[in-house]
Amino acid sequence: MKRVLITGAAGFLGSHLCDRFLKDGYQVVGMDNLITGDLKNIEHLFASEHFEFYHHDVSKFIHVPGKLDFVLHFASPASPIDYLKIPIQTLKVGSLGIHNCLGLAKDKKARLLIASTSEVYGDPTVHPQTESYWGNVNPVGPRGVYDEAKRFQEAITMAYHTFHGLETRIVRIFNTYGPRMRLNDGRVLPAFIGQALRGEDLTVFGDGSQTRSFCYVDDLIEGIVRLLHSDYSGPVNIGNPDEITISEFAEEIIKLTGTQQKVIYKPLPTDDPKQRRPDISLAKSLLGWEPKVSRSEGLKITYDYFKSLTEDELNKVEHKDFTRFIK
Ligand code: UDP
Repeated sequence: MKRVLITGAAGFLGSHLCDRFLKDGYQVVGMDNLITGDLKNIEHLFASEHFEFYHHDVSKFIHVPGKLDFVLHFASPASPIDYLKIPIQTLKVGSLGIHNCLGLAKDKKARLLIASTSEVYGDPTVHPQTESYWGNVNPVGPRGVYDEAKRFQEAITMAYHTFHGLETRIVRIFNTYGPRMRLNDGRVLPAFIGQALRGEDLTVFGDGSQTRSFCYVDDLIEGIVRLLHSDYSGPVNIGNPDEITISEFAEEIIKLTGTQQKVIYKPLPTDDPKQRRPDISLAKSLLGWEPKVSRSEGLKITYDYFKSLTEDELNKVEHKDFTRFIK
């Protein structure tokens, strides 16, 4: 039986990866310090004899007894508000955390895959974004702690590959959504759905002309699994190229939820990327992968998930005052 370590296992993507690898017949070792992750996302796995969990901060030395065939580094705050609230931890998990994971993978002779991000492209001047584009990142802006940590993470992973011959994979993840996103992490999709469910107006930042391209979580996980098993060590974009403006997206959520509320406009956060859409030609040719779930299907499933949350969860406000994060 193959054994995989998944860091950030109690998070949105980490928990879906745990499900997938258990389904595929792996022994899964989950690790999370639970700063942004939630045990609720993996509590259904604790009964499985094939699942183990370490409550541990990967920025500190990692010890995992026994063999490991794969290491997947998914631990990191991932919403703009999270990494503004905990900037140092964000930098540490993308630097010290990956260094520990690389050392562990080297010791175990395991293949390592890192979760990188479209944020490595910053506020892109090339559209859509191809893997060969080097990006436009402000290192000292509020997003710098995340963007530069992820860029460092790619660099050190490549260095372990070329210098130590470690088998490595790099997935650049574009905006992804689905069940188990935190309702109040400040990201646009849970923000809009949460507002609709609470009977509040939907807050569009800026004039709403900025674009994003949203990928349903099952599609992303499929892409990651295919990349892991490929023999390609360069970065690969995984995301859905179906691009939409944030204003149009707000209208879709209003329609989906049937809310009577309206859209209100707030200032645009500093360095908020104006356009984002993945060029997925490489993933298509290399992995035979492309997204299958349309936004209308994916949003329906995600809305049903958010509707099933308790009143307490719905009203738990983690980020009451967004304006303090806006210059
Ligand atoms: N956004 C918004 N209203 C919100 C939250 C976010 O208009 O309540 C915008 C945000 O400014 C950005 C886009 O939605 O342009 C996506 O933001 P998110 O935080 O989800 O992630 P990002 O893609 O910026 O990392």
